[in-house]
Amino acid sequence: MLVFILNAGSSSLKYQLMNPVSKEVLATGLCERIGIDGVLKHEFTDGKKLTLDVSMPTHKEAIELVLKTLVEGEGKVINSIDNIDAVGHRAVHGGEEFASSVMVTPKVIETMKKLIPLAPLHNPANIMGMEICQDLMPGKPNVAVFDTAFHQTMPDYAYMYALPYDQYTKHGIRKYGFHGTSHFFVSNEARGMLDKKHNTRIIVCHLGNGSSVSAVLNGKCIDTSMGLTPVQGLMMGTRAGDVGAGAISYMMTQEGMTIDQTLDVMNKKSGILGISGKSSDLREVLQGMQDGDDRCRLAVEMVAYNIKKYVGAYVAALDGVDALCFTGGIGENSSLIREIVCAGLDGMGLNIDPTKNNKRSGKPRDIATNSSTARIFVIPTNEEYVIANDTYKIVSGLEK
Ligand code: ADP
Repeated sequence: MLVFILNAGSSSLKYQLMNPVSKEVLATGLCERIGIDGVLKHEFTDGKKLTLDVSMPTHKEAIELVLKTLVEGEGKVINSIDNIDAVGHRAVHGGEEFASSVMVTPKVIETMKKLIPLAPLHNPANIMGMEICQDLMPGKPNVAVFDTAFHQTMPDYAYMYALPYDQYTKHGIRKYGFHGTSHFFVSNEARGMLDKKHNTRIIVCHLGNGSSVSAVLNGKCIDTSMGLTPVQGLMMGTRAGDVGAGAISYMMTQEGMTIDQTLDVMNKKSGILGISGKSSDLREVLQGMQDGDDRCRLAVEMVAYNIKKYVGAYVAALDGVDALCFTGGIGENSSLIREIVCAGLDGMGLNIDPTKNNKRSGKPRDIATNSSTARIFVIPTNEEYVIANDTYKIVSGLEK
């Protein structure tokens, strides 16, 4: 079984070719600057890379080029497109309609179109990716795997905003949460790593350019930090995270900003970039802090403090904790952020071992001291595997 995994964004797309049974990845790559000029970066399993500067006026040309690259020339990894059994699509917003992955049908696309107001940048690109694949590979099954699905198990008192109730009934205004495939993958791995098999209380910190925390009880999400859109929750690379509504309306008045300008500031110019004034990339900001830049120091301390507050809140939401997990570029690589987040949490049963924390490894590992009541795991996420595996299960009828 070979699954072509597609993550279509507004001007870029990521892809991977994977066998979900053996977990073998045949190729992975990225098309950037679609509609501008176009560059394809294709990577083989042995790390060999191929970069092609080819015009990609639309997503269709980009996907055509990717498929061509997989079957011929230097990038070739399969003999024919017929070797691909199914396509798995990352889909961002499934609203309340999709609590699990589904086979893409005209009805699914129609429902996703209705959800566009909830994700105006992402859902149209995802739908476009599905329609192009159906067009270019007629008859091949396509599966949609939603970022929001894993969080659909949250209880109403966790997902509701305390706005007038009809805002929910009329417009679906509530928390949905994102990064669901990562939260599912990591919490599931963590469950496997715990000795305990029942009443498992797991907190997952997915820390990348976009970041979110989730509380997972017995494999089911009971709360998460992102909201109706991904701008809520933790401070991120360029997103503000939690900011009081009063501060936002005051900033709009003072700056004479429109809603769109305000959202642009909160999504693209805030977070680590906004505070440091240097970069959205934590590595550069950590370097700035080492060089004595005080705003970089502030950004790093804010990032860690925000995560720590959510961890504390979710220990309370779960009535305790069995495992705290770190994943994503920051979670997997920054021992400093992990150290600051865990400092002083011994009372909650979380006791980090500095030596284990500072050791590097690309494998899942426990960085808690032996005497720590709860475990602290670093688990590399694998969202592509979740997409490929869901696709495999749905296509082969193992899951309806
Ligand atoms: P995305 O959300 O785009 O998938 P990633 O999960 O790759 O992002 O995470 C990117 C973030 O991880 C960046 O802020 C980057 O600086 C950070 N990061 C990567 N490696 C390290 C490292 N060794 N130390 C600190 N931060 C790191």
